[in-house]
Amino acid sequence: MATVQLAQVNKVYDGGVHAVHDFSIDIADKEFIVFVGPSGCGKSTTLRMIAGLEEISYGDLLIDGKIMNAAAPKDRDIAMVFQSYALYPQMTVYNNMAYALKLRKVPKEEIDKRVKEAARILKLTPYLDRKPRALSGGQRQRVALGRSIVRRPKVFLMDEPLSNLDAKLRVAMRSEIVHIHNEVGATTIYVTHDQIEAMTMASRIVVMKDGFIQQIGEPNEVYKNPANMFVAGFIGTPAMNFLHGTLEEGYFVIDGTGERIKITPAQMKYLKNYVGKRIVYGIRPESLIYEGDERFEKYKDYSFKMTAGMVELLGDIVNVHGVAGENKVVLKMGSKYSVKDKAEISVAAECEQARFFNESTTKAITPDCCEYEEAEVTQSLDEDNVVVIEQKTQGIFSKIANAIKSAGKKNKKSEPADVEDIKQENSSEDIEVETTEDEKTEQ
Ligand code: ADP
Repeated sequence: MATVQLAQVNKVYDGGVHAVHDFSIDIADKEFIVFVGPSGCGKSTTLRMIAGLEEISYGDLLIDGKIMNAAAPKDRDIAMVFQSYALYPQMTVYNNMAYALKLRKVPKEEIDKRVKEAARILKLTPYLDRKPRALSGGQRQRVALGRSIVRRPKVFLMDEPLSNLDAKLRVAMRSEIVHIHNEVGATTIYVTHDQIEAMTMASRIVVMKDGFIQQIGEPNEVYKNPANMFVAGFIGTPAMNFLHGTLEEGYFVIDGTGERIKITPAQMKYLKNYVGKRIVYGIRPESLIYEGDERFEKYKDYSFKMTAGMVELLGDIVNVHGVAGENKVVLKMGSKYSVKDKAEISVAAECEQARFFNESTTKAITPDCCEYEEAEVTQSLDEDNVVVIEQKTQGIFSKIANAIKSAGKKNKKSEPADVEDIKQENSSEDIEVETTEDEKTEQ
């Protein structure tokens, strides 16, 4: 039973890397929260601050309402499972799970009860007498989880626990971990860069980028109503299509081709401040309708032309990659339709599913957030005398800024030490950490 609160938590590493900015969330008891985002966005750093393996630079961490910033990892009642799990090869499955409890001098009968209960939940009962080398990868990963479960921690922290497993096993373990979470009922925080894991496992997702939270919400909400273009592009495969252009009264005009897509009156209501301005029309590949589909006629006013390029056949589904003017477009359709390379086709947007973004700030324009805004752009020189153009949220200038940065920094000093090395160096013995550092252990 535990609630976890982070209030404006920040991490600035020695050397000045500001890895996590103002991270705030209230996590309810028994929630399954997933931190998701590209590599280097600050997911592990945040998790490690919760575990106590990394100091919080400023901001507060509360577990069950008590401030825990200064508490030692072992006093936080947390169990952490890493992607690289470690088992003692000379011990049976039973003893691997019982070991931590024996060290804590838990009575024998209690240990037996907890190990057998964990084995039942993890479907490991038939293997309790086996040694790890006689188990499959998935079974070993379950034993690693079992070692955490028997401790009955208040909070489980999992850092990419499935990344070492093959694709099929990952899918199986995904649903097993959710099932285990439902049975054990402990608050769980799970880190992954894999948006499908996030979508399928989480009760709520926290999408991160460059150390900033981009959006917190239930998977469906984040998918349907992304807060900005980063979230819209990161969650969902293939990613949401972005058509750049200008809004006119009742129409969106696509850059380059000048084609006009109708905007519904309901959408125009909240887009009114953007008439005459540049916006981005977002539509998911599955919300585009191929001209051969009988539904096309109904959505004809919302159609535009695209030139087909690569066609991906995925069994029941076909992804047609193409362009509309300078915009890349992907159409996802049933495999009963076929499209030839270089063919010019019409596709119609299911207008109800269209989403709109301010091109300058990249933020979603919604009924609740429809005032016209322009991104704040600042220009400065960094320590290498390279011009840096920065804006609060990433938009059209980000490409220029990144290009300038990378051009200027070419041949400059290399990145800080490899993140994996850093993680390994900082691993602590104080909490139950399932990792491979111990040479005596085996995976
Ligand atoms: P993620 O888990 O999302 O891949 P991390 O939390 O590991 O990201 O890293 C976030 C940022 O902090 C990255 O830029 C990374 O290089 C940096 N970083 C991580 N650990 C350290 C460290 N010990 N010292 C300095 N920078 C670090």
